[in-house]
Amino acid sequence: MPAMFDVAVIGCGPVGAMAANLLARQGLSVVVLEKETDHYPLPRAVHLDHEMMRLFQSAGVIDRVLPDMIATDGHLHVGADHGVIRYMGTVGKPRPFGWANDYFFYQPEFEAHLRAAFDANNGIELLTGAEFSALEQHDTHVRVHYFLNDTKMHLERTEQHLDARWVIAADGSRSPVRKALGVTLDDLDFEEPWLVVDAEVEGPVTFPPLAGVPEGADLQRLSVMMCDPARPATVVPGRRNHRRWEFMLLPGEDDAVMMQPDNVAALVGAWMKDVPHTIVRAATYRFHGLVAEQWQVGRVFLAGDAAHQTPPFFGQGMCHGLRDVANLAWKMAAIVNDGADEAILATYQPERDPHVRGVIGAAVAAGRYICELDPARAAVRDATIRKAAAQKAGETAADLIPAISAGLVVSGTPGAGVRFVQPVLDDGRRLDDLTGQGWRLFVRSAGTDGGIVAGDLPDGGAVAAWLDAHRAEAVLVRPDHYVFGTGSATDLVAARDRLLGLRQEIAA
Ligand SMILES: Cc1cc2nc3c(=O)[nH]c(=O)nc-3n(C[C@H](O)[C@H](O)[C@H](O)COP(=O)(O)OP(=O)(O)OC[C@H]3O[C@@H](n4cnc5c(N)ncnc54)[C@H](O)[C@@H]3O)c2cc1C
Repeated sequence: MPAMFDVAVIGCGPVGAMAANLLARQGLSVVVLEKETDHYPLPRAVHLDHEMMRLFQSAGVIDRVLPDMIATDGHLHVGADHGVIRYMGTVGKPRPFGWANDYFFYQPEFEAHLRAAFDANNGIELLTGAEFSALEQHDTHVRVHYFLNDTKMHLERTEQHLDARWVIAADGSRSPVRKALGVTLDDLDFEEPWLVVDAEVEGPVTFPPLAGVPEGADLQRLSVMMCDPARPATVVPGRRNHRRWEFMLLPGEDDAVMMQPDNVAALVGAWMKDVPHTIVRAATYRFHGLVAEQWQVGRVFLAGDAAHQTPPFFGQGMCHGLRDVANLAWKMAAIVNDGADEAILATYQPERDPHVRGVIGAAVAAGRYICELDPARAAVRDATIRKAAAQKAGETAADLIPAISAGLVVSGTPGAGVRFVQPVLDDGRRLDDLTGQGWRLFVRSAGTDGGIVAGDLPDGGAVAAWLDAHRAEAVLVRPDHYVFGTGSATDLVAARDRLLGLRQEIAA
């Protein structure tokens, strides 16, 4: 074990495992401490979006995870009258980011793939049975104390420590690190109890007759939110024959009683009719919105559920966490590899916190109308949401994700802070496969500052069209695929170098 790691990641859930892969792929030395001996065996997240697929490209894990990702068609919300009130479908719509907008997957399989990449990704050191207990912050590093439970060798639990330049705490919603730092959570005032059921099914789900299902929309391929005041429920397809239901618990219903096999069987059976199916698990959760007041304390950064939790109505909880670590990973790599100023890490919370609050706000707003139990108010809700949705015709879940509004972006330049397009190239590869995943400068015409000339790309003119749409001579794209800014190539590169406090040039 080295005397000092660049990064110690605490917690090897999806967020910690992605952090490790992203960091190590850029050459940083990474150790991951995980208190359990294996990944969590039951599914929680089932949905992710195109941005995660692009991050899997960056982390070098796309070939491992892709076979288990099922591209899907988006989200459908159905009102009390069994008519559609909101459709965020993607069928027939362009795919500007190179991937389908929505995918379904099976979290335990996905986590196994992320861990399997550790060896190939620069030999990430994974310590299982390693339970974080305390930390000490020093000027140049953090000392992490942990208990090592060697269950394989049946040895006694020992107390150990290691040093790292930075710590990423991806230790989940109960986050012992967050507690050790004394960081409190901002409660966004949403808390509803839901029963989550997973099943393996041998055929399609039976939906009641629904009015207004858009042409081309296949209920079996959509995340369907039944906003029925009798019992709000979500019906979600999974990978292969996995299916997810989420049922709201009604006032007075007891968690333990509702989790009893007979009750679970009755709830799911209503959707499966005569189709054979096996319940894999049933558990109750409190869906809530919480955001840490402070995401960075000295050299320690909270990420994933340790930093925020969201009601899962748009399937974004884990996605937020993967965005967190993508944000941290490129900045840490810029410091280690390119000599950027360590102060850039102070932009982590200003960039991520409003972004996360924006999406959690949308999920909470949806949760408030989804969880309506009063039939009269539900009828009013149906009319209101239908009207609002009609004004946003063509909306997809991608529209819920805001731009980065502060931090390492040239705010005010057209397109700054949005996710940059990733066209599929003539040969079937995607843009990042051709350009790499670091900083990318795309220019309209060749100049003294270099850059990739948009017209030379075999992308059907997509990048040139993006520049046209933003009336830009050049666009500089960050390693996490968000637009740093648009304008003149010289100005953009100078602004980047100034903001990063660079002591050496980085290749764009
Ligand atoms: C019902 C439900 C549905 C969801 N659906 C979606 C969805 O569709 N899409 C989506 O994006 N998200 C969804 N989510 C959210 C998603 O599951 C979580 O956001 C995600 O699992 C969080 O990942 P994490 O790595 O931050 O935390 P976790 O997965 O909780 O991992 C934390 C890790 O830290 C370890 N740990 C804890 N304490 C210590 C310690 N002291 N020392 C060492 N290790 C420690 C734990 O053992 C664990 O392995 C859903 C969640 C639920 C509950």
